Amino acid sequence: MSSLRALRADITTLAVDAIVNAANSSLLGGGGVDGAIHRAAGPKLLEACRALAGCKTGQAKITPGFRLPASYVIHTVGPVWQGGHQGEAALLERCYLSCLHIAREKRLRSLAFPSLSTGAYGYPIHQAAQIAVACVRQCLSVKDGPLDITFCCFSAADLAIYEALLGTAPQAVSGPH
Ligand code: ADP
Repeated sequence: MSSLRALRADITTLAVDAIVNAANSSLLGGGGVDGAIHRAAGPKLLEACRALAGCKTGQAKITPGFRLPASYVIHTVGPVWQGGHQGEAALLERCYLSCLHIAREKRLRSLAFPSLSTGAYGYPIHQAAQIAVACVRQCLSVKDGPLDITFCCFSAADLAIYEALLGTAPQAVSGPH
């Protein structure tokens, strides 16, 4: 059975089959989660990325994880938010689908996503998380082979949004009055 969960963590610490990198189209490193992944994986990751000759928005490419606990890194390039009328939603959805496609091709069993495009690229977190959860749910429901998906959130606020969408938000418990 496949599974979906959200947790708050530094994605570079997760021992899953692959972590997803919110890369830029050069694939040569950057800030945010991209910088953290390159620092943790070591210089061989940059070498491997050079050989990939870039990546278009919405597409994804895979490398080994080198020093990371994850075996692989799937690099994808999310859209830059430009107000929502430049096809951003379709491109963001394509990022998730491209990563899932590679994961299936490589027969991976576990995959962790950061919240693509919602940092430097400015995509509003609520809308981006809705796309992420809907897209992954849909993909897991139609394709066979178990796949455990983690939505790795960097902030408590992001985690609360994902938990609400997944229906795993902790229930408010009323204490004694
Ligand atoms: P983008 O350019 O696609 O917006 P960013 O790296 O700027 O990518 O941000 C994407 C998301 O990754 C943001 O929610 C950011 O807080 C988060 N993030 C940054 N560093 C890490 C990390 N080490 N682990 C998990 N998520 C991270």
